[in-house]
Amino acid sequence: MAGVAGMAGMAVLVSAAGPRGSDQRILSELRAGGWHNRRMANVQFTVGDITLTRVGYVDVDVEPERVGLTADQVAAVPWAEPTWAGGTQLRVGAAAWVIRSGDAVIVVDPAQAADDILRSAADAGAHQEAFAGVLAAAGVPRDDVTHAIATHVEGIGMFAWRDPDGSWSPFFPNAALVVTQRELDALDAGAHPTAEHGPFDALRARGIVDAIAGDRPEVAPGVSVEVAGGHTPGHAVVRVRSGGDSAVMVGHLAVSPLHLATGECPQQHPDPALVEATLTGLRASGALLIGPLWPAPGAGRWVDGGLIAEWGTAV
Ligand SMILES: [Zn+2]
Repeated sequence: MAGVAGMAGMAVLVSAAGPRGSDQRILSELRAGGWHNRRMANVQFTVGDITLTRVGYVDVDVEPERVGLTADQVAAVPWAEPTWAGGTQLRVGAAAWVIRSGDAVIVVDPAQAADDILRSAADAGAHQEAFAGVLAAAGVPRDDVTHAIATHVEGIGMFAWRDPDGSWSPFFPNAALVVTQRELDALDAGAHPTAEHGPFDALRARGIVDAIAGDRPEVAPGVSVEVAGGHTPGHAVVRVRSGGDSAVMVGHLAVSPLHLATGECPQQHPDPALVEATLTGLRASGALLIGPLWPAPGAGRWVDGGLIAEWGTAV
């Protein structure tokens, strides 16, 4: 699936296309504890009684082809720079979004789709320790998380902890791993665009997967997981509604914010028309839009034909 290759390519580019030919520099800094906190403030948003916090790990610039776009498409989006792109390169981020609603502490798509570098055997241990460290520094120790939502199954990101013997256990030991029933059905039917999901299967075998079906979309007050499809059969968006305001986490329906403006993207999605129809609705919704792979601040609102970045409160 081309979309998966594009997503995995993001990680390749982390190591291969630093702006100054700096793959070794980036890799060594990724391993350096605390570097991410110095580089990147976390940002927090309030939606009624619910808080949304982006805990950033690293943002990097990649060639647009890695997410199914071209340099010409990037150049044609007047609002791309300086937040979402730099020159003809797109900016992407590895981050965790944390939703607090009532007693629930919900993490969405933590560092998903960067497995090539963050979860490779040689580096998995260092990255998971560092990622857990930035979460703890942001007030989100792994043990406190009650739900880990995967908008879809693609790679393992920081849903799983790689143990010294190479096996996988839950990254968030007290959390349910939430995916849609439709995504599980697609996996079980061999109808999912990616075939291998070893670490996910290992977690599923432990019985921690909580399947969200159509009649039970809400996982916490004001937080619902709703099937949108298009990218994978059971791809979901996470909707947050409280106090008359709303936010939507779009998963990989817009890997870059520029995908909100560049039209159908068959390089990323088996059903690009369905994705575009969903994005059309989201643009018109007035909701705060959030992407797990968007660089800081990772959020914005669609206003007058462009995405206006929202910076929330630095925390
Ligand atoms: Zn994906």
